[in-house]
Amino acid sequence: MIKKIPMRQCIGCGEMKPKKELLRIIRTPEGTIEADITGKASGRGAYICPDPACLQKATKNHGFQRAFKMSPSDDLIASLEKELKER
Ligand SMILES: [Zn+2]
Repeated sequence: MIKKIPMRQCIGCGEMKPKKELLRIIRTPEGTIEADITGKASGRGAYICPDPACLQKATKNHGFQRAFKMSPSDDLIASLEKELKER
């Protein structure tokens, strides 16, 4: 049996990629947006390539607003960028 690979769309470049290659970002019940390192946190989730260029695209093309109905703070962008660069 062929195992179906779950695909998700990057909110930056818009490409469909295997879920495990993407970084999951969630909106917590507290209303903040965070990287979900474990991939298991609950909350409204979106996916992005682990690439700072896609983070830039997501902020420019309003990917965050579409996914979360809210804009990420500059602090959040900075911390996500740090997260992506460390991977
Ligand atoms: Zn991407």
